[in-house]
Amino acid sequence: MRRTALLLASISATLLLASGVALAASFPGHWESVTGEESLYYYNPEKVYPAVVEEEARGWTALDGRFNGRGVRLIEVGSQAEATVLIDGYRDCDNKDLLGVSRNRERGPNLLGINTCALDGRSRKMREHVITHEFGHHLGSGHQPRKFCETSVMLELVPCGRERTVLTKPGTTDVSWYKNRWVS
Ligand SMILES: [Zn+2]
Repeated sequence: MRRTALLLASISATLLLASGVALAASFPGHWESVTGEESLYYYNPEKVYPAVVEEEARGWTALDGRFNGRGVRLIEVGSQAEATVLIDGYRDCDNKDLLGVSRNRERGPNLLGINTCALDGRSRKMREHVITHEFGHHLGSGHQPRKFCETSVMLELVPCGRERTVLTKPGTTDVSWYKNRWVS
């Protein structure tokens, strides 16, 4: 299988924010998908893979339960005004290697983009992986190094270029990251 790029458009923004205080300061208001009460409110008006979106939101929210409510809850809402993340299906058939994208916006909810042209023809497993990955960015995670290809959903490329190693839920590396970020 060819290597498939995830999220090239937002990698730099995400990693820059994670790695540099000065740069973070130059992007005020970015990545506020999680509110002060540690909830993420998502809205999926176009019903983009709705069952998968719900399942993967539950997958991340399960960590909140695992850590006794000290994590983040992902909650579906029914209007853009209530949302901090807008699920946005788009069709970019010229860039089918780009499966999903997360973008912060200064006004309105941040965007979680899903390239349906790329994913309509892929397995449910791949859709689950991409949506879990993008939610991971909205929870504040950048990308993990390739050495974590079998323990993280947050690799820049589909893990090791092999679909069989694709995770559909946060892996042990992601749980460690989450614990440091949200629980400890
Ligand atoms: Zn990514």
